[in-house]
Amino acid sequence: MTHIEIIFLGTTASIPTKYRNHAAIYLKYQSENEYSFLFDCGEGTQRQIFSSGMNFMRLDNIFITHWHADHFAGLLGLLETMSLEKRTKPLYVYGPEASKFIEVLSELGYSSKGFKLIPKDVPFDGREETILTETDEYQIISVPVSHGVPAVAYAFAEKDRIKIDKKKAAKYGMPKKGRPYKTLKEKGFVIYKGREIKLEDVSFVEKGKKVVYSGDTKPVKNLIELAKDADVLIHDSTYFEQEFDERKHSTAEDAIDVFIKAGAKQLVLTHISRRYQSEKELYELLKTIVKKKNLDMKKIKIARDFMHLKI
Ligand SMILES: [Zn+2]
Ligand SMILES: [Zn+2]
Repeated sequence: MTHIEIIFLGTTASIPTKYRNHAAIYLKYQSENEYSFLFDCGEGTQRQIFSSGMNFMRLDNIFITHWHADHFAGLLGLLETMSLEKRTKPLYVYGPEASKFIEVLSELGYSSKGFKLIPKDVPFDGREETILTETDEYQIISVPVSHGVPAVAYAFAEKDRIKIDKKKAAKYGMPKKGRPYKTLKEKGFVIYKGREIKLEDVSFVEKGKKVVYSGDTKPVKNLIELAKDADVLIHDSTYFEQEFDERKHSTAEDAIDVFIKAGAKQLVLTHISRRYQSEKELYELLKTIVKKKNLDMKKIKIARDFMHLKI
């Protein structure tokens, strides 16, 4: 069984508060292997990673949604610490116009790094989804969003897995485990005791898990498509009242509409304006919207710093 762990390291919009740090999300994927990713890196992210018990030396890929300081200002310090901790592995930083900004960051201050910093430009125009990196087990996908500056959303998408249905296999007289299964997975069939057994006869497809992070954006169609059937949609929800909507961000209601249209399973609202200091107030406002939309409150969470989600 694989699982994804999501740790919210920062959940504020623009200005930090006593309880909310600048945007950053740590995602750990556990299969036979373990992979760690960071989405956005607002100021103070390295300290948030320490406090959360995660390990920044495991990060090989960082994904920046856009180059507003509340989403990237933590990079300088994080890179410096990685270097002091004697990192030698290359580090990839993805983002719209990443080359331009990483070049500036690399030249700031008197530091020389013992590892390669490799920028990866992410397309930020149009409707196309882009696969940024991929293994046998997962893909990381981006799609342009709308925030007044080049900005993208990201998805971590686990690939579907073919699993053996032990009951079906037993009906074909196959053993509980062993070599025939290796052949079956490699070739798609196996001859067992003189009989041909096809992989589809004794297997089922386990759907891959998907997590989508909007970054900063007004509600956009691209996101509805990216978040189709996602397990978790993490969405910009700067305001909880429609009257503050200034069309560069989303309100909780906007995020809920995207969530409903996408048919995702769970919604997490983040990037919350400092005008909301109390969680109680946020939940009161949310309850009214949820009622209006006829939704199950259990499907929606308001992100808090250090909140963990496991899927
Ligand atoms: Zn922001
Ligand atoms: Zn922004």
